[in-house]
Amino acid sequence: NILAEIITVGDELLYGQVIDTNSAWMGEELGKIGIRIKQITSISDQREAICEALSAAIERADVVLMTGGLGPTKDDLTKHTLAEYFKTELQLHQPSLDDVEAIFKRYNRPMLEVNRQQAFLPATCTPIRNVLGTAPGMLFQEQDTLICSMPGVPFEMKRMMTDTVLPLLQSHFQLPKIVHKVVQTIGIGESFLAEAIADWENNLPPNLKLAYLPHLAGVRLRLTGVPTAEENLEPLMQAQIEQLSLLIQPYIFAYGEVTLEEAIGQLLKKQNLTIATAESCTGGLVAHKLTSVPGSSAYFMGSVVAYSNDVKTAQLGVKSETLAQHGAVSEETVKQMAEGVRTLLKTDIGVATSGIAGPDGGTPEKPVGTIWIAYSDAHQTLARKINYNKTRLLNIEYTTLQVLNL
Ligand code: ATP
Ligand code: MG
Repeated sequence: NILAEIITVGDELLYGQVIDTNSAWMGEELGKIGIRIKQITSISDQREAICEALSAAIERADVVLMTGGLGPTKDDLTKHTLAEYFKTELQLHQPSLDDVEAIFKRYNRPMLEVNRQQAFLPATCTPIRNVLGTAPGMLFQEQDTLICSMPGVPFEMKRMMTDTVLPLLQSHFQLPKIVHKVVQTIGIGESFLAEAIADWENNLPPNLKLAYLPHLAGVRLRLTGVPTAEENLEPLMQAQIEQLSLLIQPYIFAYGEVTLEEAIGQLLKKQNLTIATAESCTGGLVAHKLTSVPGSSAYFMGSVVAYSNDVKTAQLGVKSETLAQHGAVSEETVKQMAEGVRTLLKTDIGVATSGIAGPDGGTPEKPVGTIWIAYSDAHQTLARKINYNKTRLLNIEYTTLQVLNL
């Protein structure tokens, strides 16, 4: 059983100015290759703090992953401290200097001496290439422990982990190739899901484990298989996934690491259909999600953020009588919005939202969190009511997921 520790360095993490998302991401990725996290420590940019945390972690763990403090500014001390800790000197690493120079050339900016300094690395480390930034990573070994220091910038760290560090850990510790299969569900809570698949889950072979990974509107189910001896897990797991699918078919929107908006994009493309959104309470978030998918111009035509009643009537053709009689947050209004935007933007499908996101604006009949969503195509228009009252932003986010699900 290989144990890891994570040390994140940076005053900003301790002041609460930056949330340590690096550890969460690394924890999940290490778990996927079968490495357990023993401890996560966040410390300040201070020599003593770094040395103390490092020596304690080296005692306990097989691998120590550090992020942060590799920048060119005075407050970033990690590299100098590591050189001291491992009793070595900084020396120029030419390939890193070439990388740093290339970055400045690309942005057409002069390179400063402090940037050149970033290519000076502890002599005994194995440098890890940073293709997205100017601070290379560093790999050390002490006793039987591997120590890896990476930049704090999340996308640089992730790229370094994916390209170099995770494969390296896998081969260094000769980890068995763990297989993961993911089933994405939406519209069913974790406990209902667990009940629906209880028999199947209880009969899983002992080397297959199921994890419930819930998020705002759905649950990711992850089946993990550890190969024993030389068996091929792939067909065994595929058969299990097929059995599982039969039990919860209506709630599955994708297999693998696919988002809801990506799954919708694939459906629309395959059927050659176009979509537009008419959004009141979501303020364009449905459109934003849909357009965050590469290639969405093939099916997403546009959106009307119809926040006021005037825009609902003038742009989308919602009838004034409907608004007067039923209000903006009503089945009737939201259906007319979905139909209206479909006509206006000449698409196959229109979707719409109208609701009270809060915290103000609720009434006894329509409390905060009362939200209507609608779907319309050439054959039908349908609406659903959502009652969900968390914070304003969560209400908006949840509504957006429900529209996409609809
Ligand atoms: P750089 O070369 O970019 O300066 P660095 O290693 O010095 O890299 P830091 O200065 O410590 O990195 O952090 C850079 C940015 O990365 C910070 O502004 C912060 O927003 C983000 N960051 C740092 N540590 C974390 C963390 N643990 N979780 C999430 N974000 C982080
Ligand atoms: Mg820093």
